[in-house]
Amino acid sequence: MTKDLLKQFEKEVKKCILCGACQSVCPVYIENPDETQVARGRMALLDSVLSGKLELTDHLNDILSSCIGCKACSAQCPAGSSADLANLAAKIILSREKGLPFYQKLISRQIFSNPGILTTSAHLMDIMGRKLYTPLSRVRPIRPLLPYVQNGAARQIPPASAKPFRKRRLVNCPTSEPKGRVALFYGCAVDLFFPHWGESAIRILNRAGFEVIVPENMTCCGAPMLFMGDYETAGKAMKTNLAALTAYETDAVITLCATCGYMLRELYPKFFQESSADPLPGKVMDLQEFLISKNLMKDLILNEETRPLLRVTYHDPCHLNHGMGVREAPRVILKSLPGVEFVEMRDADRCCGGGGLFSMSHYDLSLKIGRHKVERIRETEAEVVATACPSCMIHLTDLLKRAGLKTRVLHVSELLNSALRVSDTAFAAISPFSDKRSKK
Ligand code: SF4
Ligand code: SF4
Repeated sequence: MTKDLLKQFEKEVKKCILCGACQSVCPVYIENPDETQVARGRMALLDSVLSGKLELTDHLNDILSSCIGCKACSAQCPAGSSADLANLAAKIILSREKGLPFYQKLISRQIFSNPGILTTSAHLMDIMGRKLYTPLSRVRPIRPLLPYVQNGAARQIPPASAKPFRKRRLVNCPTSEPKGRVALFYGCAVDLFFPHWGESAIRILNRAGFEVIVPENMTCCGAPMLFMGDYETAGKAMKTNLAALTAYETDAVITLCATCGYMLRELYPKFFQESSADPLPGKVMDLQEFLISKNLMKDLILNEETRPLLRVTYHDPCHLNHGMGVREAPRVILKSLPGVEFVEMRDADRCCGGGGLFSMSHYDLSLKIGRHKVERIRETEAEVVATACPSCMIHLTDLLKRAGLKTRVLHVSELLNSALRVSDTAFAAISPFSDKRSKK
């Protein structure tokens, strides 16, 4: 642990004035109104640790681990405390002192650190899920013994893609003289579950006039390891990724996953950078942010549909909103899409409960947090919830299925990619109500 990190951790704790403003926005506290479940309580506990009144214990680790890391407290905090980062730094210190549990070591050091093993694991889980877990979850006496079964239904996990993104033959041809060159950091979830997001992004960026580099030898961004407290393994992932991304001259590094973008842009410098030089200075940008900040939407030729074909709402991923400050760009894009009727959802910026591995370790709590989001989506009567985070996508899909809603969850880039087609049925093909609509 670097001294800088310890200092930063202490500074954020000392900033807390115990005002309690974080209580009203913390999704965990709203479900479990206990002072240990909110930033204020955790900052008080960490202050006691710093002054030597409290030991770093396994119980404290459990308390720190119940933070989903949504950053809503930090966004709300009048004292400017990044309580979520202090919480994370304390978890890292605890992991160092106590060691990681065996299963976390396995996940962090063997699985997430190795794209090949991660791919094999995803396929194994997929097969076991389909052949074993889902059928068993339908057998009444066995059902209560299984994890991730709630109200008689098993958790929905998307199937692993037959061919990961990094193994696909990618078409990369800007339509005209390139305006510039960008690198695409796709991350594990796009690689394994949503490779079509990556393909959509390349097509969009090409159509906007940019050459896209997909560097070889990239690995997981390191967020799952860091959030488990495995600082060293996350640091190795950062070094691998920075070596891959800085091997090319590029104008920007484009991300599609809110957490990858937040990790590369905010957490790499805050947690790992020993020197003040940023290896990717101002370069890491979410795809939507890039398109809007560079005024590129005008260069994309969209189809000419004028009828509203698809009612779309938007869910703000926490790491995109509070982590990267990207709020307007996705809305501007969605509102500009022909055939889309955009409807704003209430509490769009409230956490859905996904939180990456949090929804694996705290599934019941994730579902409770998500219930509020489902009701807000239901109110909009939207056919599609657009978002920009694989974890939100997976969790929202599970929540909506459980609630019996037919609303689909799509990445903004999927909708934009569909709008690039010169076809007035593009959105009708996406809509879950396409049959009804195409007959009109
Ligand atoms: S809002 Fe900020 S200052 Fe107030 S209790 Fe929460 S962390 Fe502390
Ligand atoms: S990061 Fe989110 S879950 Fe954690 S304390 Fe802050 S508001 Fe609560």
